[in-house]
Amino acid sequence: MALSDQFIEKLIAAAGDGGVVTDAADQAPYLAEERGLMESTCDAVVRPSTTQATAEVVALCASEHVPIVAMGGNTGLVGGSVAAGGVILSTERMNKVIEIDALNHTMTVEAGCILADIQDAAEAENCLFPLSLGAEGSCMIGGNLSTNAGGVGVLRYGNTRDLILGIEVVLPDGRIWSGLNALRKDNTGYDLKQLFIGAEGTLGIITKAVLKLFPLPRSKVTVMAALDDLDNILALFDRLRAGCGDRLTAFEMVAEIGLDLVVRHIPGARDPFAQRHPWYVLMELTSPSENDDLRGQLESALGRALEAGEIVDAVFAESEGQAAELWKIREEIPAAQTREGGSIKHDISVPVSKTGEFIIRATKLVEDEMPGIRACPFGHIGDGNIHYNLTQPVGMDKQAFLGRWVDFNRLVHDLVKSMNGSISAEHGIGLVKRSELEHYAPEIELDLMRRIKSVIDPDNIMNPGKIFEN
Ligand SMILES: Cc1cc2nc3c(=O)[nH]c(=O)nc-3n(C[C@H](O)[C@H](O)[C@H](O)COP(=O)(O)OP(=O)(O)OC[C@H]3O[C@@H](n4cnc5c(N)ncnc54)[C@H](O)[C@@H]3O)c2cc1C
Repeated sequence: MALSDQFIEKLIAAAGDGGVVTDAADQAPYLAEERGLMESTCDAVVRPSTTQATAEVVALCASEHVPIVAMGGNTGLVGGSVAAGGVILSTERMNKVIEIDALNHTMTVEAGCILADIQDAAEAENCLFPLSLGAEGSCMIGGNLSTNAGGVGVLRYGNTRDLILGIEVVLPDGRIWSGLNALRKDNTGYDLKQLFIGAEGTLGIITKAVLKLFPLPRSKVTVMAALDDLDNILALFDRLRAGCGDRLTAFEMVAEIGLDLVVRHIPGARDPFAQRHPWYVLMELTSPSENDDLRGQLESALGRALEAGEIVDAVFAESEGQAAELWKIREEIPAAQTREGGSIKHDISVPVSKTGEFIIRATKLVEDEMPGIRACPFGHIGDGNIHYNLTQPVGMDKQAFLGRWVDFNRLVHDLVKSMNGSISAEHGIGLVKRSELEHYAPEIELDLMRRIKSVIDPDNIMNPGKIFEN
C-alpha cells in the first residue's frame, strides 16, 4: 500500500523533525533481517520521540488502516519486525532513563533504551538489572518486553516477564494506557501488562516500563567444566543447586562441536582445555557480598563432582578477561555455525530433568533422517532451554540442506511436544513459527489468543500476520 504525500505530511507533523524516513537508502537498516532469510518492505519509517507523538502516529495510521510494525533494536530471530508495507515504528528516539528509585529497587525507562545502557545505568546506582543476552549491545527494552526475552540470567532472575512491574502502552486506536506501577503488590483485577509482554507488537506499542532492580553482585566466579557423559550435566546441576542455591546464576551447555566450530571460525577464540571432551558446562556464581567465598564453594563442589566422575576437568577464569574468553565460546556458537554453512535452528524447552533425554533422542532422529548431519545443541540447560541447532553435513549444498528445514522441524518439534515441551522457548513466534504454533497449539488456546487480538486490535493494524496467519 503506497502512502499518499498528504498522509506522509501528517506523519511528519506528528513525529516531528527527523521523525520520518522515506528515503530508500536511509530505510535500508530498518529493512534488514537478522538471519537474512526474509524480505521486509515499508512505505515509511517513523521515529517518534515521545509517547504523545507515538499516540498521534498510531491514531493517524488507525484512521486509514495503515499497518504498523513496532521495531526496537531489530535483533529478533523470528522475523517479528519484518514488514510488508505500511509503517515501521522505531522506538530508537525514545531512549531516556526517566528515573531510578534505588530504595524501591526500580528503574523507569523509555522503550527505546538499549539493554546494555540500562544495565550500566543500574550499575551506576549500585544496582543490577539482570536481563542479559548476546544482543544486549543493540536490542532495546521495548523489544525485550515484547519478546519476553530470556537470556543467561533466567536461572536466577527469571524471564523479562518476571522483571517488570509496570508498562505504558499506546493502543491500536491511539489511546495511551498508563500502567506504570512501581508496586510489588497489586491485585486490582486482571494483570493487563502481562498481555502486552510477549505479544510481539501485535497488541500495541510499549512506550515505557518500570523495571525491577536487584543488589549488585560484588563477587563472581566463572568456570568451564568438561564432562564425558551428557547424563552427568544434570547430576552436576543438581549438586550445584543444592550446594550454592541462588548464587548459581548461569549454567550453560556447550557440545564439543560447538567449541570446535568457535575455535575454528571465530578470531581470538581458543580451547581452554588441553584436550577435547564431548560436553562442557559454563557456570557462573555471583553474590552481593564481597566476602562470599564463591571460589571456595565452587572448588569444593567441583572437587566432589570430580570424585563422583561427573566432571573430568574444569578451568577457572582468573580474571575478567579470562571470563570473557569463556563466555565468548558460548556466545559465538551461532556465528561460528553460520561460517560453517547452513544451519537449521530450534529454540525449544523441555522440563530440565528431561534435557539429556531430549538431546539423545533428537540426535538419533535427525541422524537417522540425514546421515552426516551435525547436531550442535547448546544453551540455557539450567532453564531446560536448548538451542537445538543442526549444522549441514560436510560438503552438502547449503540451500538443499536449508530446504529440509520443515522436515526437521516436524521431527524435532514432535519429540518436544511428546515430552511436554515448548517449540518456542525464548525467541517468540513472529513469522517463522506461525505454522508451528498453528500445528501444535490446542484449538482452545488459539481461539482465546485470536479473541484477545480482535478485542484489542479489531482492525488488525498492529504487526499483522505475526503470531497468527491472517
Ligand atoms: C546474537 C544474538 C543473541 C540473542 N540471544 C538471545 C537470548 O539469549 N535470549 C533471547 O530471548 N533472545 C535472544 N536474541 C533475540 C533478540 O535479541 C531478542 O528477541 C530481543 O528481545 C529483541 O529485542 P529488539 O529490541 O531487537 O526487538 P526487535 O527485533 O526490534 O523486535 C522484536 C519484536 O518485538 C516487537 N517490538 C519491538 N519493540 C516494541 C515495542 N516498543 N512495543 C511493541 N512491540 C515491539 C517487534 O514488532 C517484533 O515483533 C538474540 C539475538 C541475537 C542477534
